[in-house]
Amino acid sequence: MAESASDRFARWRLQDLLLRHSGLRIMPNSGDDLLLAGDLPFRATGPDGRTVEDCYAIEIRVQSTFPRGIPTVRETGGRIAPAFHKLEGDLLCLGARTEIQIQLATAPTLLGFVDRLVIPYLFGHSYHEAHGVMPFGELEHGRDGLLQYFASLFRAPSRAAARVFVHLTSLRRRVANKEPCPCGSHRRLGRCHNRQVNRLRKLLGRSWFRGEFNAIATDE
Ligand SMILES: [Zn+2]
Repeated sequence: MAESASDRFARWRLQDLLLRHSGLRIMPNSGDDLLLAGDLPFRATGPDGRTVEDCYAIEIRVQSTFPRGIPTVRETGGRIAPAFHKLEGDLLCLGARTEIQIQLATAPTLLGFVDRLVIPYLFGHSYHEAHGVMPFGELEHGRDGLLQYFASLFRAPSRAAARVFVHLTSLRRRVANKEPCPCGSHRRLGRCHNRQVNRLRKLLGRSWFRGEFNAIATDE
């Protein structure tokens, strides 16, 4: 039997979200999507210890495929310029897709989505307004940005090493463990950074990383 909307909302912990962020409301919506809108006030501290307190008017559209499907978020108060990290259709670009998948796989609830992805994005915007730079640094666009992201995810010594880490995560564990570890230790992966690779392979699956490897392996 198909899951009812109320079962789905319970699984997504919708009530937790509405309690924690009481400015958000469920909006009338004709389709199957859950539409949430309202004010999202927050207080967050960056890696440099500087705190930002701010509030944005936002709209979140959640498809029934959540958490596999990523909700779309729009800022409706007109504060965030189109040139700031956005996707097509004025949607907020919440981060590298692997990072979004990692956060959603770790906390597959609406509260997890808002607290781990939406608020950090809004915090980044406010911080950028105040200080002219992004609090966590900034990713380049396209393939370079992906390689840069994977280098930090795997704490790889170079982008070339990051690419090998992604490839190893797309392979079966037993096969990958026999390969040299990309960190440069001259040990096999199975005797070096295997835990890090195993954790990500288990979290998102080999095929996810195969797709990402194809995205970063293509020549421009
Ligand atoms: Zn290693």
